Amino acid sequence: MRVLVLGGTTESTSLARLLAGDARFDVIVSLAGRTRQPRPQPVAVRSGGFGGADGLAAWLRAERIAAVIDATHPYAAQISANAVAACARTGVTMASIPRPAWQPGPGDRWIEAATPQAAVDALGVAPRRVFLSLGRLELQAFARAPQHHYVARLIEQPEGIALPPRLQLIYARGPFDETAERDLLIAHRIDTIVSKNSGGAATYAKIAAARALSLPVVMIDRPHKPAGTIVPDALAARAWLEMMLSSHEPASPSARGV
Ligand code: NAP
Repeated sequence: MRVLVLGGTTESTSLARLLAGDARFDVIVSLAGRTRQPRPQPVAVRSGGFGGADGLAAWLRAERIAAVIDATHPYAAQISANAVAACARTGVTMASIPRPAWQPGPGDRWIEAATPQAAVDALGVAPRRVFLSLGRLELQAFARAPQHHYVARLIEQPEGIALPPRLQLIYARGPFDETAERDLLIAHRIDTIVSKNSGGAATYAKIAAARALSLPVVMIDRPHKPAGTIVPDALAARAWLEMMLSSHEPASPSARGV
Protein backbone atom coordinates (compact mmCIF):
# COMPACT_ATOMS: atom_id res chain seq x y z
CA MET A 1 0.00 0.00 0.00
CA ARG A 2 1.42 3.41 -1.01
CA VAL A 3 1.25 5.80 1.92
CA LEU A 4 1.96 9.53 2.08
CA VAL A 5 2.93 10.85 5.52
CA LEU A 6 2.68 14.63 5.73
CA GLY A 7 5.46 15.29 8.17
CA GLY A 8 8.06 17.50 9.74
CA THR A 9 7.25 16.51 13.33
CA THR A 10 8.22 14.04 16.05
CA GLU A 11 5.05 12.08 15.25
CA SER A 12 5.90 11.73 11.55
CA THR A 13 9.41 10.54 12.37
CA SER A 14 8.00 7.98 14.85
CA LEU A 15 5.55 6.72 12.24
CA ALA A 16 8.26 6.52 9.57
CA ARG A 17 10.35 4.42 11.99
CA LEU A 18 7.39 2.10 12.65
CA LEU A 19 6.68 1.59 8.94
CA ALA A 20 10.27 1.43 7.64
CA GLY A 21 11.15 -2.06 6.49
CA ASP A 22 7.52 -3.23 6.63
CA ALA A 23 7.02 -4.73 3.17
CA ARG A 24 3.26 -4.13 3.32
CA PHE A 25 3.78 -0.38 3.09
CA ASP A 26 5.58 1.82 0.59
CA VAL A 27 5.98 5.09 2.49
CA ILE A 28 6.89 8.61 1.40
CA VAL A 29 7.31 11.36 3.99
CA SER A 30 6.61 14.87 2.73
CA LEU A 31 8.39 17.83 4.31
CA ALA A 32 7.55 21.50 3.78
CA GLY A 33 11.18 22.08 2.85
CA ARG A 34 11.71 25.04 5.17
CA THR A 35 14.67 23.46 7.00
CA ARG A 36 17.92 23.12 5.07
CA GLN A 37 19.07 20.15 7.14
CA PRO A 38 15.96 18.18 8.16
CA ARG A 39 16.20 15.15 10.40
CA PRO A 40 17.15 12.02 8.41
CA GLN A 41 14.17 9.70 7.73
CA PRO A 42 14.27 5.90 7.41
CA VAL A 43 11.88 6.01 4.40
CA ALA A 44 11.67 7.94 1.10
CA VAL A 45 11.36 11.72 1.45
CA ARG A 46 10.03 14.43 -0.84
CA SER A 47 10.28 18.10 -0.03
CA GLY A 48 8.43 21.35 -0.83
CA GLY A 49 4.84 22.39 -1.55
CA PHE A 50 2.55 20.45 -3.90
CA GLY A 51 0.85 23.56 -5.30
CA GLY A 52 -2.30 23.77 -3.17
CA ALA A 53 -5.10 21.20 -2.94
CA ASP A 54 -5.18 20.80 -6.75
CA GLY A 55 -1.47 20.08 -6.89
CA LEU A 56 -1.71 17.61 -4.03
CA ALA A 57 -4.68 15.82 -5.64
CA ALA A 58 -2.73 15.48 -8.90
CA TRP A 59 0.31 14.22 -6.99
CA LEU A 60 -1.77 11.62 -5.08
CA ARG A 61 -3.15 10.29 -8.38
CA ALA A 62 0.22 10.27 -10.15
CA GLU A 63 1.89 8.47 -7.24
CA ARG A 64 -1.04 6.03 -6.76
CA ILE A 65 -1.25 6.87 -3.06
CA ALA A 66 -3.87 4.79 -1.19
CA ALA A 67 -3.69 6.49 2.22
CA VAL A 68 -2.53 9.79 3.68
CA ILE A 69 -1.48 10.34 7.28
CA ASP A 70 -1.39 13.96 8.34
CA ALA A 71 1.26 14.23 11.05
CA THR A 72 2.00 17.92 10.54
CA HIS A 73 2.53 20.58 13.20
CA PRO A 74 -0.58 21.96 15.00
CA TYR A 75 0.05 25.41 13.45
CA ALA A 76 0.46 24.05 9.90
CA ALA A 77 -3.23 24.44 9.06
CA GLN A 78 -3.02 25.10 5.34
CA ILE A 79 -1.41 21.81 4.39
CA SER A 80 -4.07 19.96 6.45
CA ALA A 81 -6.91 21.84 4.73
CA ASN A 82 -5.32 21.00 1.37
CA ALA A 83 -4.95 17.34 2.33
CA VAL A 84 -8.60 17.01 3.42
CA ALA A 85 -9.76 18.62 0.15
CA ALA A 86 -7.38 16.58 -2.04
CA CYS A 87 -8.28 13.29 -0.36
CA ALA A 88 -12.01 13.99 -0.68
CA ARG A 89 -11.52 14.72 -4.38
CA THR A 90 -9.41 11.65 -5.12
CA GLY A 91 -11.14 9.17 -2.79
CA VAL A 92 -7.91 8.58 -0.86
CA THR A 93 -8.45 7.69 2.82
CA MET A 94 -6.88 10.01 5.36
CA ALA A 95 -6.07 9.92 9.06
CA SER A 96 -4.64 12.70 11.22
CA ILE A 97 -2.52 12.70 14.36
CA PRO A 98 -3.53 15.86 16.24
CA ARG A 99 -1.11 16.75 19.01
CA PRO A 100 -3.03 17.71 22.20
CA ALA A 101 -2.51 21.31 23.33
CA TRP A 102 -0.75 22.14 26.60
CA GLN A 103 -3.16 23.17 29.36
CA PRO A 104 -2.34 25.84 31.94
CA GLY A 105 -1.88 24.51 35.47
CA PRO A 106 -1.42 26.05 38.93
CA GLY A 107 1.36 28.64 38.87
CA ASP A 108 1.16 29.25 35.11
CA ARG A 109 0.71 32.89 34.07
CA TRP A 110 -0.58 32.59 30.51
CA ILE A 111 -1.89 35.48 28.42
CA GLU A 112 -3.88 34.21 25.43
CA ALA A 113 -3.24 35.93 22.06
CA ALA A 114 -5.26 35.08 18.96
CA THR A 115 -2.41 35.74 16.49
CA PRO A 116 1.30 36.71 16.49
CA GLN A 117 0.12 40.33 15.91
CA ALA A 118 -2.05 40.12 19.04
CA ALA A 119 0.96 38.74 20.92
CA VAL A 120 2.94 41.87 19.93
CA ASP A 121 0.13 44.04 21.35
CA ALA A 122 0.04 41.98 24.54
CA LEU A 123 3.69 42.90 25.24
CA GLY A 124 2.59 46.51 25.78
CA VAL A 125 4.47 49.75 25.30
CA ALA A 126 7.10 49.59 28.07
CA PRO A 127 10.34 47.85 26.99
CA ARG A 128 10.57 44.20 27.99
CA ARG A 129 13.08 41.41 27.61
CA VAL A 130 11.23 38.80 25.59
CA PHE A 131 12.04 35.20 24.70
CA LEU A 132 10.42 34.35 21.36
CA SER A 133 9.85 30.63 20.99
CA LEU A 134 8.37 30.88 17.52
CA GLY A 135 9.05 29.89 13.94
CA ARG A 136 11.00 32.14 11.62
CA LEU A 137 7.80 33.27 9.86
CA GLU A 138 6.19 34.62 13.04
CA LEU A 139 9.24 36.70 14.03
CA GLN A 140 8.51 39.44 11.53
CA ALA A 141 5.37 40.50 13.43
CA PHE A 142 7.68 41.75 16.24
CA ALA A 143 9.52 44.21 13.96
CA ARG A 144 6.79 46.75 14.72
CA ALA A 145 7.60 46.70 18.47
CA PRO A 146 11.30 47.69 18.36
CA GLN A 147 11.34 48.93 21.97
CA HIS A 148 11.68 45.39 23.33
CA HIS A 149 14.86 43.35 23.56
CA TYR A 150 14.24 39.92 22.00
CA VAL A 151 15.96 36.58 22.24
CA ALA A 152 14.66 34.14 19.62
CA ARG A 153 15.55 30.48 19.24
CA LEU A 154 15.44 29.05 15.74
CA ILE A 155 16.67 25.92 14.02
CA GLU A 156 18.59 27.89 11.43
CA GLN A 157 19.29 31.42 10.22
CA PRO A 158 16.22 33.34 9.01
CA GLU A 159 16.50 34.85 5.56
CA GLY A 160 14.48 37.41 3.64
CA ILE A 161 12.30 38.62 6.51
CA ALA A 162 12.12 41.89 8.47
CA LEU A 163 13.38 41.36 12.02
CA PRO A 164 13.16 43.57 15.12
CA PRO A 165 16.36 45.62 15.68
CA ARG A 166 17.22 44.38 19.21
CA LEU A 167 17.14 40.70 18.44
CA GLN A 168 19.57 38.07 19.61
CA LEU A 169 19.32 34.74 17.77
CA ILE A 170 20.09 31.36 19.27
CA TYR A 171 20.24 28.26 17.07
CA ALA A 172 19.12 24.97 18.60
CA ARG A 173 16.78 22.09 17.89
CA GLY A 174 14.72 20.40 20.63
CA PRO A 175 14.11 18.46 22.75
CA PHE A 176 15.03 20.91 25.53
CA ASP A 177 15.52 20.28 29.21
CA GLU A 178 13.90 22.33 32.00
CA THR A 179 17.09 23.16 33.89
CA ALA A 180 18.79 24.41 30.73
CA GLU A 181 15.69 26.43 29.82
CA ARG A 182 15.62 28.04 33.25
CA ASP A 183 19.33 28.88 32.98
CA LEU A 184 18.76 30.41 29.55
CA LEU A 185 15.86 32.58 30.77
CA ILE A 186 17.90 33.77 33.76
CA ALA A 187 21.08 34.39 31.74
CA HIS A 188 19.20 36.62 29.28
CA ARG A 189 17.17 38.31 32.07
CA ILE A 190 13.95 37.39 30.26
CA ASP A 191 10.76 38.81 31.77
CA THR A 192 8.20 37.54 29.21
CA ILE A 193 7.93 34.52 26.90
CA VAL A 194 5.98 34.34 23.66
CA SER A 195 5.15 30.83 22.53
CA LYS A 196 2.93 28.77 20.31
CA ASN A 197 0.90 26.08 22.06
CA SER A 198 2.73 23.36 20.18
CA GLY A 199 1.91 20.58 22.65
CA GLY A 200 4.10 17.51 23.13
CA ALA A 201 7.09 16.93 25.36
CA ALA A 202 9.96 18.15 23.17
CA THR A 203 9.45 21.89 23.75
CA TYR A 204 7.42 21.91 26.99
CA ALA A 205 10.48 22.60 29.20
CA LYS A 206 10.32 26.37 28.59
CA ILE A 207 6.72 26.43 29.87
CA ALA A 208 7.74 24.56 33.03
CA ALA A 209 10.75 26.89 33.42
CA ALA A 210 8.50 29.95 33.05
CA ARG A 211 6.23 28.57 35.77
CA ALA A 212 9.20 27.95 38.07
CA LEU A 213 10.40 31.54 37.54
CA SER A 214 6.85 32.94 37.69
CA LEU A 215 7.22 34.52 34.24
CA PRO A 216 4.22 35.38 32.04
CA VAL A 217 3.80 33.43 28.80
CA VAL A 218 1.97 35.06 25.90
CA MET A 219 0.45 31.97 24.28
CA ILE A 220 -0.57 32.26 20.63
CA ASP A 221 -3.82 30.38 19.90
CA ARG A 222 -3.85 27.37 17.61
CA PRO A 223 -5.43 27.78 14.19
CA HIS A 224 -8.35 25.58 13.11
CA LYS A 225 -6.76 22.52 11.53
CA PRO A 226 -9.00 20.33 9.35
CA ALA A 227 -8.50 16.58 9.89
CA GLY A 228 -9.32 13.12 8.58
CA THR A 229 -10.00 10.17 10.89
CA ILE A 230 -8.41 11.06 14.21
CA VAL A 231 -5.73 8.69 15.53
CA PRO A 232 -3.94 9.57 18.78
CA ASP A 233 -0.35 8.66 17.92
CA ALA A 234 2.03 6.94 15.51
CA LEU A 235 1.18 3.43 16.81
CA ALA A 236 -2.52 4.06 16.28
CA ALA A 237 -1.76 5.43 12.81
CA ARG A 238 -0.01 2.17 11.93
CA ALA A 239 -2.97 0.16 13.29
CA TRP A 240 -5.32 2.32 11.18
CA LEU A 241 -3.17 1.64 8.08
CA GLU A 242 -3.26 -2.11 8.82
CA MET A 243 -7.05 -1.91 9.02
CA MET A 244 -7.18 -0.03 5.70
CA LEU A 245 -4.88 -2.62 4.16
CA SER A 246 -7.08 -5.55 5.20
CA SER A 247 -10.20 -3.80 3.93
CA HIS A 248 -8.51 -3.25 0.54
CA GLU A 249 -7.11 -6.79 0.20
CA PRO A 250 -9.07 -9.18 -2.04
CA ALA A 251 -10.65 -12.03 -0.04
CA SER A 252 -8.45 -15.16 0.06
CA PRO A 253 -9.69 -18.35 -1.77
CA SER A 254 -10.49 -20.03 1.58
CA ALA A 255 -12.46 -16.99 2.73
CA ARG A 256 -14.51 -17.27 -0.46
CA GLY A 257 -15.16 -20.93 0.40
CA VAL A 258 -13.42 -22.26 -2.75
P1 NAP B 1 1.11 25.62 6.38
O1 NAP B 1 0.74 27.05 6.57
O2 NAP B 1 0.14 24.58 6.73
O3 NAP B 1 1.57 25.36 4.88
C1 NAP B 1 1.83 26.35 3.91
C2 NAP B 1 2.22 25.63 2.64
O4 NAP B 1 3.48 24.97 2.80
C3 NAP B 1 1.26 24.53 2.25
O5 NAP B 1 0.13 25.04 1.57
C4 NAP B 1 2.14 23.66 1.38
O6 NAP B 1 2.38 24.26 0.14
C5 NAP B 1 3.46 23.72 2.13
N1 NAP B 1 3.61 22.64 3.12
C6 NAP B 1 3.45 22.70 4.46
N2 NAP B 1 3.72 21.52 5.03
C7 NAP B 1 4.06 20.69 4.02
C8 NAP B 1 4.46 19.34 3.96
N3 NAP B 1 4.60 18.58 5.08
N4 NAP B 1 4.74 18.81 2.73
C9 NAP B 1 4.64 19.56 1.61
N5 NAP B 1 4.27 20.85 1.61
C10 NAP B 1 3.99 21.41 2.80
O7 NAP B 1 2.44 25.29 7.21
P2 NAP B 1 3.85 26.06 7.34
O8 NAP B 1 3.83 27.31 6.50
O9 NAP B 1 4.94 25.07 7.11
O10 NAP B 1 3.90 26.42 8.86
C11 NAP B 1 2.88 27.11 9.54
C12 NAP B 1 3.18 27.07 11.01
O11 NAP B 1 3.48 25.74 11.44
C13 NAP B 1 4.37 27.90 11.44
O12 NAP B 1 4.03 28.41 12.70
C14 NAP B 1 5.49 26.90 11.59
O13 NAP B 1 6.45 27.35 12.52
C15 NAP B 1 4.75 25.70 12.11
N6 NAP B 1 5.51 24.47 11.85
C16 NAP B 1 5.39 23.84 10.63
C17 NAP B 1 6.11 22.68 10.41
C18 NAP B 1 6.02 21.94 9.09
O14 NAP B 1 6.67 20.88 8.96
N7 NAP B 1 5.25 22.40 8.09
C19 NAP B 1 6.95 22.17 11.42
C20 NAP B 1 7.04 22.84 12.62
C21 NAP B 1 6.31 24.00 12.82
P3 NAP B 1 1.50 23.90 -1.18
O15 NAP B 1 0.18 24.58 -0.97
O16 NAP B 1 2.29 24.44 -2.30
O17 NAP B 1 1.36 22.40 -1.21
